[in-house]
Amino acid sequence: MNILILGGGGREHALAWAALQNPKCDKLIVAPGNAGIAEIATCARLDIEDGGAVAEFVGENNIDLVIIGPEAPLAAGVGERLREAGLLVFGPSAAAAELEASKAFTKEICAAVGAPTAAYARFDNAGAARAHIRAHGAPIVVKADGLAAGKGVVVAETKAQALAAIDDMFGGSLGSAGAEVVIEEFMTGEEASFFVLVDGETCLPIGTAQDHKRIGEGDTGPNTGGMGAYSPAPVMTPEVEARALREIVEPTMAEMARRGTPYSGVLYVGLMIENGAPRLVEYNVRFGDPECQVLMMRLGAQALDLIHACAEGRLAEARVHWAEDHAMTVVMAAKGYPGAYVKGSAIGGLGDLPEDSWQVTFHAGTARDGDRVVAAGGRVLNCTARGTTLTEARDRAYALVDAVDWPEGMFRRDIGWRALG
Ligand code: ATP
Repeated sequence: MNILILGGGGREHALAWAALQNPKCDKLIVAPGNAGIAEIATCARLDIEDGGAVAEFVGENNIDLVIIGPEAPLAAGVGERLREAGLLVFGPSAAAAELEASKAFTKEICAAVGAPTAAYARFDNAGAARAHIRAHGAPIVVKADGLAAGKGVVVAETKAQALAAIDDMFGGSLGSAGAEVVIEEFMTGEEASFFVLVDGETCLPIGTAQDHKRIGEGDTGPNTGGMGAYSPAPVMTPEVEARALREIVEPTMAEMARRGTPYSGVLYVGLMIENGAPRLVEYNVRFGDPECQVLMMRLGAQALDLIHACAEGRLAEARVHWAEDHAMTVVMAAKGYPGAYVKGSAIGGLGDLPEDSWQVTFHAGTARDGDRVVAAGGRVLNCTARGTTLTEARDRAYALVDAVDWPEGMFRRDIGWRALG
């Protein structure tokens, strides 16, 4: 099978690595890829948000399956453009990607099917939103409706913070993403991410994870794209998982199909769990980054079979072969991230890192500069490991971190603290 993966982060490096573990993968191209991906696959220049250009590339390169990593090409409709051309695609249509692109849309679907989530109200003007906040008080959560790269959510501890968020969003700080605002009840509990493959009808769980959004140890400081993750998430017991599937995921997917916009691809289900009861925080329409890295590490070669079955609508006959294992990934970022950071610093030691089915260093923002690998983004490396216990996975992941020679980099030493106690 010839495969094209769209994207160039740690998530796509992990997808590429897993695909290559499977003997069914004959040829692998990643667009645009990064320095780490270039060592295991062919990297191509391609406008991945241009469905026509991607379809043409697929034809020219005899690609059998396209795996779409990030949300931007999905929201841009690359999924349906490829499907219309009769190509095999892993990733939802733009209409189904509304589950991530519009928070108001997701809330409305949850209300229609009775899926448990925070109570909410939506507003298209600041006056009514302010009145709602004054009436409900804090803590309260203010969200821009549209895609805002993780910057569109304010968990306000005081009314003043919530009112300031309203002024910001309606003042245009997030552009059109903030033209409409959703205000939610503040939920308490423990968060976890639940990943489900969906082929329009069948929902197949493929793992759980917990990530670490904040930059600082002890979950302090500003939010990031994610500084580390581990799988499985202990809070996602089999009972909680079954409830999340029955009460949230399956009804949502049935409603999407009923509306004529069936969902196909991986659904990332962000949950808040309190006393064994899951409530929906958000849906994303793609793998999380860095959660994908720990899922791929655990699934290995079978990930490609599952993704292929999903794209072909054969999930009803697919099975996940679970191992009793744990995985952890530690993100190494450029100093200064998530604020301003310097690009171009050299990263040493990469050639000597051990790599096997227990330890892999996935690249995120890296590039090649002559014979050096240099930092080319905020989040740069994902040191990822598997073990029979989470402690073993952690020790292996940090052994990789410690072997990387990159004085301009930083990382959190406490990934997994909640689960490790
Ligand atoms: P992401 O970067 O995770 O995609 P996002 O911008 O799509 O984020 P959400 O996931 O909806 O936004 O919210 C971000 C975070 O804010 C959540 O992970 C959660 O910690 C917190 N949060 C969101 N909604 C609520 C809520 N109703 N109650 C409590 N916390 C919430």
